Amino acid sequence: MTRVAIIGAGPAGLVAARTLVDAGADVCVFDKGRRPGGRLNTREHGAYQFDHGAQFFTVRDERISPMLEDWVSLKVVALWKGRLVRLMGNTAEVARPTKRYVGTPSMISLASELRGELEILSLTRIVGVERNQKEWHLHDELGGDHGGFDRVVMAIPAPQAVPLLSEVPALQRAAEAVGMAPSFAGMFVFAEPPPMDFDGAFVGDGPFTWIARDASKPGRPDVEAWVVHASSEWTRRHWSGDRTDIARRFLEELTMRFGSLPDTLFERTHRWGYALADGFAPGVLWDAKLGIGAVGDWCRGGRVEGALVSGIQIADKVVASG
Ligand SMILES: Cc1cc2nc3c(=O)[nH]c(=O)nc-3n(C[C@H](O)[C@H](O)[C@H](O)COP(=O)(O)OP(=O)(O)OC[C@H]3O[C@@H](n4cnc5c(N)ncnc54)[C@H](O)[C@@H]3O)c2cc1C
Repeated sequence: MTRVAIIGAGPAGLVAARTLVDAGADVCVFDKGRRPGGRLNTREHGAYQFDHGAQFFTVRDERISPMLEDWVSLKVVALWKGRLVRLMGNTAEVARPTKRYVGTPSMISLASELRGELEILSLTRIVGVERNQKEWHLHDELGGDHGGFDRVVMAIPAPQAVPLLSEVPALQRAAEAVGMAPSFAGMFVFAEPPPMDFDGAFVGDGPFTWIARDASKPGRPDVEAWVVHASSEWTRRHWSGDRTDIARRFLEELTMRFGSLPDTLFERTHRWGYALADGFAPGVLWDAKLGIGAVGDWCRGGRVEGALVSGIQIADKVVASG
């Protein structure tokens, strides 16, 4: 049985792992996080929850459509029928209608469904990948050695894959060429409805790129929980800023744009170092001779759907390599 190590339990790694298990491989997934999901995740604070990473996803690829049908019938995913707008200066126009899906009751539900019965070593950050007598060995940051793998798949953001690809310089160079943009997320709960009269807004100017009312998504608690995402330029400028100040700045910016806000019951920020791909690799990266590769949203148009498709593609390559 082929032993495969997958580094990263975001949508790309999880779907690759599931596909490989279905094909009969012995798969072990490693993730530095507490729970699987990666950027497809949910922050929970007592009774409050926030989709602080991916906001929704769309499905166009025929390989993902049957999976979507299963998730909808299992009620881990549902259509979001929120009122979405595009804001630019003083103008607001209705966003292009398209089917936008969300995990229910939160984004992490989809990751939990993808996880299934997979063997996942959480809180395990891989810092080195080495070939030793035709086997791959993974080294974690606590000095642990995980050996005996025939194949290795890195399903992590490109800049995080670069140092782990030192045994395959061609793939390392390809990953190095891909940039990823950061984003600060702000999470707020207001005591009363704030003056924003939409459920989600793509913002074309100012510090924000996105503003959303989480409670408008299906299955969410009925509280005025809002998420904002800052542009990469704004995030880079304020990267080392104090988190409490950043939250206050976000509230000031909302006030300037929409008018005075009700009191907040909760304020928090999260710093995404690699939020969205800023360019793409030409496809999934795979060295068939050595049995190692790298994959993720940055190999396939970005976003959750791109990550899922790239995960299936690399699993196919692993299977084809015997
Ligand atoms: C703020 C924000 C908004 C977004 N909005 C949307 C949206 O509206 N719609 C949409 O479709 N997509 C959106 N996305 C993008 C979407 O979340 C990603 O495209 C998708 O999650 C990528 O999946 P992935 O599996 O490639 O990588 P990730 O989800 O990043 O998963 C990678 C995993 O690898 C782990 N990892 C990294 N390095 C190591 C290491 N050395 N050792 C062990 N584990 C490691 C991480 O912990 C993580 O769990 C958004 C992302 C962010 C951050």
